[in-house]
Amino acid sequence: MPLQHVSPSVPSGRAGASFAAQLTYENVERRYGDTYALRDFNLDVAPGEVVCLLGPSGCGKTTLLRITAGIEKPSAGRMLINANEMAGPNRFVPPEQRGVGLMFQDFALFPHLTILDNVAFGLKGLPKDEAKTQALAMLARVGLQSYAQNYPHILSGGQQQRIALARAIVPRPAVMLMDEPFSGLDVQLRQSMQEETLALLRETRATTLIVTHHPEEAMRLGDRIAVMDQGRIIQIDKAEMLYENPNALFVARLFSEINEISYTVKSGQIDTPFGSFPAPEASNNPTATLCIRERGIRLSKSGDGLPGRILHKKFLGDIGLLEVGIQGFEEPLRTRVLDLTDWNRGDEVFVNLAPGQTLVFPGEKL
Ligand code: ADP
Ligand code: MG
Repeated sequence: MPLQHVSPSVPSGRAGASFAAQLTYENVERRYGDTYALRDFNLDVAPGEVVCLLGPSGCGKTTLLRITAGIEKPSAGRMLINANEMAGPNRFVPPEQRGVGLMFQDFALFPHLTILDNVAFGLKGLPKDEAKTQALAMLARVGLQSYAQNYPHILSGGQQQRIALARAIVPRPAVMLMDEPFSGLDVQLRQSMQEETLALLRETRATTLIVTHHPEEAMRLGDRIAVMDQGRIIQIDKAEMLYENPNALFVARLFSEINEISYTVKSGQIDTPFGSFPAPEASNNPTATLCIRERGIRLSKSGDGLPGRILHKKFLGDIGLLEVGIQGFEEPLRTRVLDLTDWNRGDEVFVNLAPGQTLVFPGEKL
């Protein structure tokens, strides 16, 4: 049957909005034997906000989503939606009563269901006709209504991603959880799917957690980014703030290409060929690490600065990378330039730092 006869009133415009929800974690902990998947986890997500969880494999990202969805219970602490306790010492609200949508990394579409039925799956509480109408509207919203009666295997990766998103969002969850939703897509497709997904999330106003281990993806998608390590949030802020004021070397490395040089701290400072910098001293560790952003090193052919020599040059498309041996540094420093044509291996140069392009952290680089 041609689709337009199934439901003549299928809207193809915007997705309807859900009621935005506040999401709160209070000292959430999840233990597996001696392993802490989450520890002292505290976070407030504002209604309609998109927060990206960024961190290495095993830092607890998926566990946090599972606890939020109600697939997992915290060992201690509380999780609340709109100030109602969903999981805690005294209460556990089952997954289906939380208004939480979950989208997995591998999309997890049902191969034996049509694409329309895959999307309608999230609407089991509704009368069949109503569920189909809404599912079809959502299919139209993601531009795939013509595939309604086909099966998932004929879809490309990007199309499967859209269907998985449609299925998760059609019940209008107040909270959306997405676990590495773009990792199965090739790079060219990723960016357009990120934009489409964000547009859909904004329309529905769902409060959203997106797990990723790509800093750039987190910067594109998140209103804020929570950087996680070993079950905790190391720092949470807007991307610009994480870039400008990382509170740890671990965070600095995620958002900026940097050179790292360790020094001994003396009288609250480190003395380097570029001058002295105030340095915090880690307790019982008298070393500090100077970070120089690769984009913050200025080269000139004459004038002031530390003498140096270009050791390597690498073309990287939009930017060029130079390795420069610099008087006073044991290792060469990397510097990024927009145009490589003026610079060649063996060139004698003078090296300066642009203002505000250094960071100092306690402890040695590891
Ligand atoms: P991420 O999603 O950030 O990669 P996870 O939340 O999956 O991390 O896992 C966090 C930690 O908890 C890891 O050390 C992992 O091995 C452990 N873990 C997760 N689930 C289980 C489980 N069911 N049993 C035992 N350990 C688990
Ligand atoms: Mg995971």
